[in-house]
Amino acid sequence: MSDTTPSIFTKIINREIPADILFENNRLIAIRDIAPQAPMHVLVIPKTQAYANVTELASGDPALLSEIVVTAHNLATLHSNGEYRLVFNTGETAGQTVFHVHAHVLSGALQEHTLA
Ligand code: AMP
Repeated sequence: MSDTTPSIFTKIINREIPADILFENNRLIAIRDIAPQAPMHVLVIPKTQAYANVTELASGDPALLSEIVVTAHNLATLHSNGEYRLVFNTGETAGQTVFHVHAHVLSGALQEHTLA
């Protein structure tokens, strides 16, 4: 069940709060994370907040999930070296703080043995 209170990402999509927008189409927006954890740290966010997490998105709109992956690749190619880590925090104990599904796209100087 989706929350109808606008999420922070919906407010960014509606230009109610500012963000560094790298890409946008009718279904997605990509912004730089405000607290970057890699040389490139971008969030790819569906414009709908109907899906709280990637599990809901995968069952509700798998094509949109695929679009997120393609967009991640394109952004990592444009803004980094084309290699990237894709993270979907899913649930509070996994570090999710915004319950409007989003992918973290991390690229550049990532270490092999850390995912945390
Ligand atoms: P998560 O913890 O996986 O739900 O990710 C939420 C992410 O949103 C965090 O990495 C935050 O740094 C990021 N974030 C929160 N507010 C903003 C904002 N106004 N602009 C850009 N990124 C944000």
